[in-house]
Amino acid sequence: MNNQDFPLTLQGENPPMVRFDKVTKRYGDLTVLDSLELDVRANEMVTIVGPSGSGKTTVLRMLMTLEHINEGVIYVDGRPLTHMEKDGQLVRANKSYTREVRKDIGMVFQQFNLFPHMTALENCTEAPIQVLGLSKKDAEERAVELLEMVGLDDKIDQYPARLSGGQQQRVAIARALAMRPKVMLFDEVTSALDPEVIGEVTQVIRKLRVKHDLTMLMVTHQMGFAREISDRVCFFYNGSIVEQGAPEEIFSNPKEERTAEFLSAVL
Ligand code: ADP
Repeated sequence: MNNQDFPLTLQGENPPMVRFDKVTKRYGDLTVLDSLELDVRANEMVTIVGPSGSGKTTVLRMLMTLEHINEGVIYVDGRPLTHMEKDGQLVRANKSYTREVRKDIGMVFQQFNLFPHMTALENCTEAPIQVLGLSKKDAEERAVELLEMVGLDDKIDQYPARLSGGQQQRVAIARALAMRPKVMLFDEVTSALDPEVIGEVTQVIRKLRVKHDLTMLMVTHQMGFAREISDRVCFFYNGSIVEQGAPEEIFSNPKEERTAEFLSAVL
């Protein structure tokens, strides 16, 4: 890869917390992300909306290194995620380097993906103990605090099967936060929930906006929530950002016809 095209690290006063630098993702002949450029500032909440199949989830999965990048570089807190410097050039990084950078990122999925054989508390202590090397006592202290924050202090010893969908999703959020990530990714976290429990999950995300020093990137179909909580909304179409801006601009006064069409269909 040519070093002049992609910096080895992002320098300057205020480097973005996340940068997609001309990132392309293909599955065979299908281009899912087309030279995507997207910056997310530290502590910013950016929401991605758009039609099904436009590449929204792929953006988050690439950041979690769950998908291979075909072209381009993703930076997290200034460091390239899947590349490293060798003799002044950027080359593909080995897995242990990428794993290190990825510790800054936490993700919450549509399907909560909790460990079924572990209690809520154990779900939240497993990775801090195994990956960060915390003592059991410290990990439990951290987990209890987070389970309290998501309103589940009375459920810490329950197994996922005994919890409602909304409760499981709140455990999943606490579990991701227990790793103290700088960036949180939310992938349609309310889509699998019954309507009456959606509010308890969105309420936790609202709390995070106020309480934590977190950069957040969220994919959602809940336009009302996107409008209320986002600093910026990006409208995706066919693997590209067609339009982005403050929620008021995007929802009240979209400039692109495709954005207006999408919004009139879903609102
Ligand atoms: P969205 O989240 O906007 O609905 P996705 O990011 O899930 O879109 O998917 C974007 C496109 O990539 C879709 O056309 C989807 O079918 C395709 N896609 C996603 N994952 C795979 C895969 N593992 N293999 C082939 N195509 C895929």
